[in-house]
Amino acid sequence: MTYDLSGRAGLLEILSWARPHDSATERAFCREYLDRITGMRSDAFGNRMLTVGDRPHVLWSCHVDTVAAKGGQQAVGIDENGVASLCDGKAGMSLGADDGAGLWIMINMIAAARPGRYLFHRGEEQGCLGSRWIERNSPDLLCGIEAAIAFDRAGVDDVITHQSFGRTCSDAFASSLALELNGLNRDFGYRPDNTGVYTDTNEYAGIIPECTNLSVGYERQHGPRETLDVVHCEKLLAAMLEIDASKLVIERDPSIVEDDRWWFDRRSHGDAFAEAVADHPALAAWMLEQCGVTLDDFQMEVWAEDMDEGGPYRPLVSS
Ligand SMILES: [Zn+2]
Repeated sequence: MTYDLSGRAGLLEILSWARPHDSATERAFCREYLDRITGMRSDAFGNRMLTVGDRPHVLWSCHVDTVAAKGGQQAVGIDENGVASLCDGKAGMSLGADDGAGLWIMINMIAAARPGRYLFHRGEEQGCLGSRWIERNSPDLLCGIEAAIAFDRAGVDDVITHQSFGRTCSDAFASSLALELNGLNRDFGYRPDNTGVYTDTNEYAGIIPECTNLSVGYERQHGPRETLDVVHCEKLLAAMLEIDASKLVIERDPSIVEDDRWWFDRRSHGDAFAEAVADHPALAAWMLEQCGVTLDDFQMEVWAEDMDEGGPYRPLVSS
């Protein structure tokens, strides 16, 4: 067995492990791949962390778990365009590029000794369990950090400015990060995007000034038809090995919660979508189930909405 996760083979190796939170496979993956990296530590929740350089200002974030219903090995293929997918995807499975892509980028940034504090969170898909644990129990870990950057967003263009917290990074920061990335690869079209949902860096938005999430190339996550644009992922890693993080603009005050929360637009944008759902309720229910939303989750949300009409909506589905 090899423990090398470099190159495309390393990325496909990560994707071949279905890693639901706290499954034997997820724990084995952490032992086999993360714990063998020199300097890797674990906290009491099992989040893994490592610091490169003195007193870093940037925190790099990803999560180890996937939404797969069962742990184990899975066959992964890649087509002539460099798009990876499951060879035999069925309900309850997912490629797990969410967030295998982020894992792979961070492991290879560490191998290249890129400075920063690296956090490999556990239980993100269960409601950001690992990052909530850190925020509550070991916020010292976030001391001196000015920017928390997650590699955990679908698509290829987004630098997320808003998550369920509300605004989590300034437009100036998001624009400066997009500018740096686009300057490193002319195929990139990164730009600020305010439609983020929920990933680990959201949990740190009350402490760390700039918290974002970057598109890493996966699509249709949380289901058997998930894909990963491996070529994009490789380009993003190449850029991360060169990026000068000192050029990022730090502007947001984490003690001020901006009230321009994205979910206020939910109803106005949702009309056509809601109509389609009303026309095809069985399909909509099946798709929610595929995303890991149970009947109980749904009824809880209906209840919360009845109790607090128009109040803040906390999304159930994370990145
Ligand atoms: Zn994710």
